[in-house]
Amino acid sequence: MNPLLLSAPIRILPQQLADQIAAGEVIERPASVLKELLENALDAGATRIEIELKIGGMEAIRVTDNGHGIPGEELPLAISRHATSKIRQLDDLLRLHSLGFRGEALASICSVSQWEISSCQAGETSAFAMRYNQPQQVHEVNHATGTSVWIRKLFHNTPARRKFLRAERTEFRHCDDVFRRMALARFDVGFYLKHNGRQLQKLPAAADDTARARRVAQLCGQSFVQNSFYLDVTHSNMRLWGWISQPDYSRQQTDMQYFFINGRIIRDRVINHAMRQAYNAYLRPGRHAAYVLHFEIDPASVDVNVHPTKHEVRFREARMIHDFLSRCLRDSLRSGASDSVPFNQAVNESSLYYSTRDSSESLRHHDGQASAEHETFFGQVLTVLLGRYLLTQAGERLYLIDAGRARTRINLHHWEAAWEANDVTQRPVLIPERIALDTLQRQRYQQRRDLFQQLGFDIDQAGPGEIVLRAIPGWLSGSDVVALIHALLTAEIDPASPFDVIRAYLLDRPGDLGSIDIRHWLRGMEREREALRDCWRVLTQADLQYWLGQSAK
Ligand code: ADP
Ligand code: MG
Repeated sequence: MNPLLLSAPIRILPQQLADQIAAGEVIERPASVLKELLENALDAGATRIEIELKIGGMEAIRVTDNGHGIPGEELPLAISRHATSKIRQLDDLLRLHSLGFRGEALASICSVSQWEISSCQAGETSAFAMRYNQPQQVHEVNHATGTSVWIRKLFHNTPARRKFLRAERTEFRHCDDVFRRMALARFDVGFYLKHNGRQLQKLPAAADDTARARRVAQLCGQSFVQNSFYLDVTHSNMRLWGWISQPDYSRQQTDMQYFFINGRIIRDRVINHAMRQAYNAYLRPGRHAAYVLHFEIDPASVDVNVHPTKHEVRFREARMIHDFLSRCLRDSLRSGASDSVPFNQAVNESSLYYSTRDSSESLRHHDGQASAEHETFFGQVLTVLLGRYLLTQAGERLYLIDAGRARTRINLHHWEAAWEANDVTQRPVLIPERIALDTLQRQRYQQRRDLFQQLGFDIDQAGPGEIVLRAIPGWLSGSDVVALIHALLTAEIDPASPFDVIRAYLLDRPGDLGSIDIRHWLRGMEREREALRDCWRVLTQADLQYWLGQSAK
């Protein structure tokens, strides 16, 4: 350790520095600023919110609302730390109806940007403004009822944080995600988005079912709305409503899963588990449901003060909520989907193999005789190609299955389910392995220790830049572990769904015959279908082997 540090006296940090440090907790990037400003606008009762971004929000973010505004004399308070109009005492947290309550966002944002706030309080005629170069000095301006917050040059005075900003496209995508969530959270509010002067979204307030469905289609795509059920269930003091994907519509990512509790987006394990359980019977391993669901519940039964970004909650009656959700979903999936084949049944009966292709792209066997007896989803194995790919036939369809990937996917599926149930088994490694980390990884390791533990890793700090691995999750095979740990320490991770990263790492690696190659190969076959028609029946394994060899090159 630096000997100077040992002898330095203890000092109270200057306010600006303390704010900048605290900003690290909630303000990670432009999207986090946007989230806080939008929450404030909604808390102010706005019915129309306009957003303007420049350069992915790194250059400027302006949010204008028509809410109740801030009185001129309170402007300086709004940007002070621990200043809020939303709670007065601890008990208020139990009946919270606002999105904000910590009174920290504006103070944090303003400490790391060049800002300007203008506001006109409802019922007043004069508006007031305040800006970064003369804080505390309030002057009169023109402004309609409501508030505009203008944030420019984020992190201009904290170069270390600025370094973590990514390309404009990436930062914009994060802002767009925030926009989407807010617009799905509050159908009763109009949202308008501009980026670099271009109007990208115009979403007027949606008052009826048709308008709400239109908004969902605009934000999540028409195909999601067309392939989903709408549900609305009320039970004692709980209500669940929204759109859930039909069993035969699924996605490769968990990117279209929106769950709101009292209008607040939430990532939560209890909820993930309930959702997964409901879809379990229908989805193949590695596929994910899509949903936009609103859960309304007495604010006293959820604690939102668990995490600074307020994305996590604690339920007072987790079990009951879990059961209510699973039951609503199960009923609704069942009633709408009586004729689809529960996949699990097939998987349990088969030897657990999974195709890397969508079934829509499967190659049709032209005059194949559909076998009458009940078969597993992927049917019978016709042959094994290159010691690795299984060619199977189920009715009229042929499946080409990469056995190695199938195994990985299935293990992943079990691992994720075990993690959700908080029940991951561990396997000690034969010889504890030392892993060197760079600065960023070290920092992230400190933040993600709990996550690693929950995932089933047993890791200790070995030295300043080194960790030692003692046990790994039971579902993980030994060969990939160190690289996976590096990936988990390098990528950005949503702690509520670390499997997005794990999946991408374990499944989307180059070097083997991936689904893209297979698709390419199949498209070629599809084109030659006519020509193949007759010879398909006499096709030999050697022919297929030749094709596979070609497409693997
Ligand atoms: P919090 O939202 O947790 O109260 P913030 O730092 O985000 O803390 O905001 C501080 C205060 O500034 C709020 O409590 C609110 O009174 C006021 N405020 C901020 N933004 C707005 C807005 N858009 N309209 C009205 N008041 C606002
Ligand atoms: Mg706030």
